[in-house]
Amino acid sequence: MIYRTHNCGELSRKDIGKEVTLSGWIQKIRNLGSLFFIDIRDYFGVTQLIISKKSVKKNFFLGKEFLIKVKGKVVKRLSKNNNIPTGEIEISVSHIDLLNSSLSLPFSIENETDGNEEIRMFYRYLDIRRNPIKNNLILRHNLSLETRNFLSKNGFLEIETPTLINYTSEGARSFVVPSRRHPNKFYALAQSPQLFKQLLMIGGIDKYFQIVKCFRDEDSRSDRQIEFTQIDCEMSFVEVHDVLIFFEHFIKHIFKEIKNISLDPFPSISYYDAIKMYGTDSPDIRFGMPFIELNDLIQKKNINFLKIQELVIGIKINKSHNTHEKINFFLKKIKNPNFFWIKYLYDRTFIHSNQNFLNKEIIKIFVKHFEAIPGDLLFFSYGKEKKAREELGKIRIKIADFLNLKNPNVFKPLWIKDLPLLEWENESKKYKSVHHPFTSPKEEDIDFLKNNPENIRSKSYDLIINGIEIGSGSIRIHNKNVQNLIFKHLGLSQKEIEYKYGFFIKAFEYGIPPHGGIAFGLDRLVNLLEGNKNIKDFIAFPKNNYGKDIMINTPSFLEKEKLKELHLR
Ligand code: ASP
Repeated sequence: MIYRTHNCGELSRKDIGKEVTLSGWIQKIRNLGSLFFIDIRDYFGVTQLIISKKSVKKNFFLGKEFLIKVKGKVVKRLSKNNNIPTGEIEISVSHIDLLNSSLSLPFSIENETDGNEEIRMFYRYLDIRRNPIKNNLILRHNLSLETRNFLSKNGFLEIETPTLINYTSEGARSFVVPSRRHPNKFYALAQSPQLFKQLLMIGGIDKYFQIVKCFRDEDSRSDRQIEFTQIDCEMSFVEVHDVLIFFEHFIKHIFKEIKNISLDPFPSISYYDAIKMYGTDSPDIRFGMPFIELNDLIQKKNINFLKIQELVIGIKINKSHNTHEKINFFLKKIKNPNFFWIKYLYDRTFIHSNQNFLNKEIIKIFVKHFEAIPGDLLFFSYGKEKKAREELGKIRIKIADFLNLKNPNVFKPLWIKDLPLLEWENESKKYKSVHHPFTSPKEEDIDFLKNNPENIRSKSYDLIINGIEIGSGSIRIHNKNVQNLIFKHLGLSQKEIEYKYGFFIKAFEYGIPPHGGIAFGLDRLVNLLEGNKNIKDFIAFPKNNYGKDIMINTPSFLEKEKLKELHLR
């Protein structure tokens, strides 16, 4: 080995006396007059060097991130550093070579850096030298490896499917790729392998998976990337229950292997109940606080103003959660006219949000109904049903944020089932699939297709962990007529169905098995495992919130000739 006999993270007391060669980047230099202390770093760790000035040539200059190769002897270190594995030794250097110098750094390469996100993205290769990013990439690797092993052991075959496909109506916009060889024709980048994994089931592959890049031309959001990675899975001869049981097992395995965390059994609730209890289809259930419905109580007690509201709901924030005076500050900021709150004080008096319909009697009715004890806070929302739920859902999360109730070390998975099959889209004046057009309706709801399509529930499921959608899937349609019917309800003409999905429908006629599957967001999952910080920190070369990679400066213009070649001019 010319460059090294050992790496910078492996030498310890047992190596004292050995002659070694190491190569690494300079992390730190301390100049003590006749001596230098230098920390060099590579992928594996940091080792301290001790170099006497006599042994280096005059005008020999070293700086941070210069890459050096040293030869020397492992010696016992006088001042031990118990924080690093190599902390008991240092290398007494006899020979030093400069392999490469470095410009002065745009930000510090330390665990806590002074670089902002933009500069870190511009010099991403320097950012990757930092331990937090490197460790995230290692974690991601381990997650992929564990996934591959677990699924393979359970009979899943990893199969690659094409990236260059046709524009499909899976929900988002596709990225379009012009074809040079076929003038005015276009490929689209796959939003997911959906159709292909279903075709694999028709092809008799019993269980499939793929760790796969997917592409969606969507607007920027901090937790979303236009190219992202899915753990995409499909199984034959399954119903909803089978998929949920197996993938609960998978997620538990991942948490155990990667984080040594044993997850409790995953509860499941319907989409309808999720909205009813939490005002969202992706509830964070780490901190309780489900909605309490108050319409019946209000009618019974004849509470005038509230009686005429479509819906009145409330949540109780336990005294253990809101002991701080902080909450008063928070309450003062609440401006929504359709909210009110009551705080039950320790001296058994109340403060409240001063709505004129609130009086002592009414307050007591609510306090009793919620079984509130001194110190508890009650929070209410009223008005039109949908809005009242949505708004209380948002405030529930804000309160949890404000009171630090989202413990990053606690993981609470939840299956949401029976999502609606279709939703009406005002812009296009058409129905749109809530999941995707290949999702099976529940048999018992099929009759709603004629008059009430919004009421059809689907055989779909989402896995939510700590309020984040980690996976989503469904049992698929495996009947040609039903698939055709759904396409028609999505506004596709017979001709369009034939043109876009003819090959797919045809395959249904050769003995398509019942099948279903799920896809997990790998980027989101790895981010969640580390406490849901920033998804970009878990992707080697992410795009920014505007879909740009500022390091390689993409997207970018194409030269005229190239446009011509692609028949775009
Ligand atoms: N293809 C779906 C998606 O990307 C996942 C699935 O239904 O399996 O959301």
